[in-house]
Amino acid sequence: MKRALVTGGSGGIGAAICRKLAAQGCEVLVHANSQLDRAEAVAAEIRATGGVARALAFDVTDAEATKAALERELEAGAIQVLVNNAGIHADAVFAGMSQEKWARVIDVSLNGFYNVTQPLTLPMLRTRWGRIVNIGSVAGIVGNRGQVNYAAAKGALHAATKALALEVASRGVTVNAVAPGIIDTGMIEGVFDAETIKRLVPMQRAGRPEEVAELVGFLASEAAGYLSGQVISINGAMI
Ligand code: NDP
Repeated sequence: MKRALVTGGSGGIGAAICRKLAAQGCEVLVHANSQLDRAEAVAAEIRATGGVARALAFDVTDAEATKAALERELEAGAIQVLVNNAGIHADAVFAGMSQEKWARVIDVSLNGFYNVTQPLTLPMLRTRWGRIVNIGSVAGIVGNRGQVNYAAAKGALHAATKALALEVASRGVTVNAVAPGIIDTGMIEGVFDAETIKRLVPMQRAGRPEEVAELVGFLASEAAGYLSGQVISINGAMI
């Protein structure tokens, strides 16, 4: 049974990805930061349907705490499926953007990617099989007003995806990014109303977390072994 870690498994998209990977037969580590209770509920739900899952919590911006938590997990064996999904936004027009908002968003999406992925890479390479999926964003491809920090973090994550894919390709490890558009989770509450979504999205609706999870599930599967170094959009034809 392959072991999978989904960061931000306590959130909307992350929880759907955890359910999908569990249904595909992975043992799933459902990660949270502040909402361990939500991650525990997702793990309990997976166990109730016959899957294998457990919750854990750490702040991906805390390099030491992240490393310590991952080293504990690695004692039970390599984590071969990693979904870097934890992310936040802290929007402001750039002219008025505080240094704190700039740094906080970069810290979670980009430094968090390093803090989680780096300690897991060598053990994964040693098994000669791995899947890394980074959750980026349409904002990292085309930009978005009020999100210079978020677009920078996600755009850098897309670039890191391509570079890491080159380094690990010969060892059976694929690295891809999924770039969602507007997905119906807590993250978009109060950001996009129904009219705005209709205007921005040709399919005239927000995507569902489960739709993103289907794509991530495929990228994490055996069948996707020759697909690597890509940024795949899922956005209702926005771009
Ligand atoms: P949610 O707000 O529902 O979930 C965000 C998750 O990130 C939570 O599980 C949260 O943990 C975790 N997280 C936040 N900060 C940290 C931290 N410092 N350390 C560890 N974990 C942290 O958002 P979504 O499910 O919508 O978003 C998931 C991903 O998808 C994000 O990367 C987001 O940028 C991306 N995305 C989302 C889109 C959307 O429209 N919803 C569009 C494009 C991309 P906790 O709650 O436990 O603190």
